[in-house]
Amino acid sequence: MQQEQQKTKNQPLYDTIIIGAGFSGLSAAYHLCEQRRRCVVIDPNPSLGGLVASHKFDTFSIEKFYHHLQRRDDHTAEMMQRLGIGHLLKWLPASNAYLADNRLYPLNNPLDILCFQLLSLKDKWRLAQLVRNVDKIDNLNEIDDLSVEEWITKTSSADVYRNFFAPLIHSKFGKEAANISAAWMVGRIRFRSHRSLRGETLGYVVGGFQQLVDALHSHLQNRCQFFMQQRVLRISRNKAGIFTVQTGTQVFQGRSVITTISPKTLLEIIDWPDEERQRLQHLPFQKVICVTLGIRHKVHPYYWCNIANPEVSFAVLLEHTNFYRDPHYPPALLYLANYCSSEQDFIWQMQDDEIVEAYKLSLNRFFAVKDADILWWKLARADAAGLIYRRGILKQIPAATTSIAGLYTIGLMRSFPERSINDSIKQGHEAATLANTYLGPVAVDSNRGLG
Ligand SMILES: Cc1cc2nc3c(=O)[nH]c(=O)nc-3n(C[C@H](O)[C@H](O)[C@H](O)COP(=O)(O)OP(=O)(O)OC[C@H]3O[C@@H](n4cnc5c(N)ncnc54)[C@H](O)[C@@H]3O)c2cc1C
Repeated sequence: MQQEQQKTKNQPLYDTIIIGAGFSGLSAAYHLCEQRRRCVVIDPNPSLGGLVASHKFDTFSIEKFYHHLQRRDDHTAEMMQRLGIGHLLKWLPASNAYLADNRLYPLNNPLDILCFQLLSLKDKWRLAQLVRNVDKIDNLNEIDDLSVEEWITKTSSADVYRNFFAPLIHSKFGKEAANISAAWMVGRIRFRSHRSLRGETLGYVVGGFQQLVDALHSHLQNRCQFFMQQRVLRISRNKAGIFTVQTGTQVFQGRSVITTISPKTLLEIIDWPDEERQRLQHLPFQKVICVTLGIRHKVHPYYWCNIANPEVSFAVLLEHTNFYRDPHYPPALLYLANYCSSEQDFIWQMQDDEIVEAYKLSLNRFFAVKDADILWWKLARADAAGLIYRRGILKQIPAATTSIAGLYTIGLMRSFPERSINDSIKQGHEAATLANTYLGPVAVDSNRGLG
């Protein structure tokens, strides 16, 4: 007790303690600081950005996990404008393909679909009808208990599922593919239905998303406090409504808390009432392994390639340099990735160099990339990479407000139908508004908001 008092002695009483320095947490901090609230952000990583952190090289940085923006990502575009870096957002053509039967099929526009040999003409017509009809579904809850396979087989055909949708779902959800909710699929088709007849255009930040992370950091560093390399181990609230947040070395006190972390960690660090505990216990999360490689030559002509060949050891291959190219990049930058649904997944248990060896074999066999063509590689793992959108997911996604007054839970566990930087920025703003209302009028104190 005495030791705890020591640790809090020099700490102010914060208005809001924000757990996690990813985009949800940074956006919450941004908006609370606008309201002159005194905030602290805590994260175990050495640098900001969460899943949008980058590998740093002498002359460039590249995201550890591939990232781009969608046309509808207006919260991100607005944040970039506010930070004075709106001019860095570029919209670029992004081509897609699909590897099946050892062949690459481009899938960008109606002509590509017409030429797609794995669907009959009748199935192509069914596919077009299905995409046209998704906007007519008023209530996603009605199809949330159906799997994508059941719904597409019912409304279209088994071949449309097998030859068109299954590879996409396998590349995103691996072994969980058969369990994925039709509501997610419909949400995703709507989310991505803004492409023109010429194909899709996606957004990227000149110099990489690290520019956005850095701009947020510069904006916030004199407005709120950051405690990095500190993992929150415990959150409690006393009868007077004051939260105590403990890391291994510090104790923080605040009037409200915004968490942006996974359900698994939330269960470990907070004593929840039964109903919330059960809800969090049943929220399935996925993991991801992502290898970035610098290559001496171009590998294929597309940006994004879903892999339907079961012999290939990765589920998705992106050639980033076919989308965005920086003069300092190597000739080609590739991402190879696999999603895992549990710690027991075979690939998750493999050592990093074993994974890279397996990926190299497939690169060699299917994309003619030899070991000597590989300049360098980096491997990143994320333990909490997003929700697995199983059947019934809509009933399980929790609200941002909890039964504990002043505690808000946001981030990946609330992102539907797509996790995204944009959704995190939006959620951070919403949670800041909730916390601000809960906190009431700002006390008159000239140092407020300045950490
Ligand atoms: C492979 C991959 C590709 C993606 N591609 C895109 C894309 O193209 N476009 C797009 O918009 N989005 C993409 N996303 C999604 C996007 O990265 C996320 O939606 C967004 O970054 C989530 O931000 P967040 O703050 O909610 O969560 P996170 O970034 O996960 O941040 C949570 C933070 O909490 C911290 N934390 C965890 N435990 C504790 C603890 N005990 N104490 C303190 N802090 C803790 C973590 O270290 C982390 O920094 C992708 C994600 C992945 C995995």
